[in-house]
Amino acid sequence: MLDTKGIMEITTTGMTFRDGALIDLLQEPFHPDKLLLVRWKEGGITIGPTIEHAGRIFAPAPSGATIPGLMQLPTRVAPEESPRDLFSAIVDLLKDVLRQPKFVTSMLAILIFASWVSDALPMAPCFWILPMPAAPKSAAQRLLNRLCRRSMLLVALRRGDLAFLPWDWNPTLLLDEPDPQSAMRRVLRHSSRRGECMIVGRRLLDPYGIRVVLSRELPFEMLPEADVLRISLMSVAGPNRFLNEATEERIAEEFQGRLQGFRLRNFAKVQMTRPQLQNLTPPLQDLGRALCAAVAGDDELMSLVLELLNSQEQQIRADATSATESVVIEALLSFCHQVDTREVRCLVISRRTEAIYAGRGSKREISPEQVGWKLKHLGIPVGRIGSAGKGVNLTNAVRQQVHELAILHGVLTVASGPVPPCPFCQEFKERLAVAT
Ligand SMILES: [Zn+2]
Repeated sequence: MLDTKGIMEITTTGMTFRDGALIDLLQEPFHPDKLLLVRWKEGGITIGPTIEHAGRIFAPAPSGATIPGLMQLPTRVAPEESPRDLFSAIVDLLKDVLRQPKFVTSMLAILIFASWVSDALPMAPCFWILPMPAAPKSAAQRLLNRLCRRSMLLVALRRGDLAFLPWDWNPTLLLDEPDPQSAMRRVLRHSSRRGECMIVGRRLLDPYGIRVVLSRELPFEMLPEADVLRISLMSVAGPNRFLNEATEERIAEEFQGRLQGFRLRNFAKVQMTRPQLQNLTPPLQDLGRALCAAVAGDDELMSLVLELLNSQEQQIRADATSATESVVIEALLSFCHQVDTREVRCLVISRRTEAIYAGRGSKREISPEQVGWKLKHLGIPVGRIGSAGKGVNLTNAVRQQVHELAILHGVLTVASGPVPPCPFCQEFKERLAVAT
């Protein structure tokens, strides 16, 4: 498009420049289908239908009719305030509506901050929200949809739909109970690190960005643990607080403007914040660095981030022992300890797995197919055993592998208690003795 002076306009959904300037989108307050640009440079703010910067003219990207309806955009840039003040205001709002303890509201506030500066972070964490029974899931979902940057709430997304998402807008995807086997799994796996492109429907797309999953399933298997911040949404007594449309609009109007102000003023600081975090175990260091950057290196907020990550680490260890995978490994390990057993069917493993669950007071069921799928995922060869269905051939190599997995997943029978007369257990016991 040419402007009146005949200069070519560059359309954009937002840009960052080497000189530290930023261009971003605003929605016109009373014309939601009209977009404006805002430029931030050296503390100065310019707003207009087009913006001139470094000798070029920029205009908002054509949004189509759908975007303004689907995505919340800010209508203004709020006056300057400290990241800490904004953070407290968001925590107070979340506490008021969701009635959650401080560590939950703090993690949700960190999520919201991260969504506003995801393009300045070293990686984009996935936030996995696990709603307990009677937790205010729907209210949390609606609030996040109003507060995150360019949020899109998606349900039952299929592979073919991916090509239609406005990836150029760098949306924050809010996924409600995504199917772990579907295309979402691929998007989630590749959205945390930059440059992991995917081809969907003849389109090359870079799924990098903040993803928020609300799911009763744990993220095991779906994602590398190191890319995920888990948030348990607690049950609350009594009816959930209801937000009507008008209240939601008001909240969005206020906080989108304040968060846009946070983004513009703190983008450079977020890019520069890369703390050394020796106190965290290596898999969580990247996550920690990203979350510390998201709060723009504010000392008090960074120590809060580290405190939350340390408790998450302990939680992961506790959950790992009760996760399905580890129980399946435990079941398979018990067959490895039957000297005469040369092969075992998935059906038999599934029954043993259920028996282990039952022994721990859980009525959880697992089908032979699920067992087969989990074993394959763990890298254990599963094949047809005679005419009896699928199962595992317990070769020495497989037995060794099962023992390795048992150690890795903290299946306790290997590391403690009397050692069965098993050459692999003996070997591991010796290895562990050397290590400790
Ligand atoms: Zn053994």
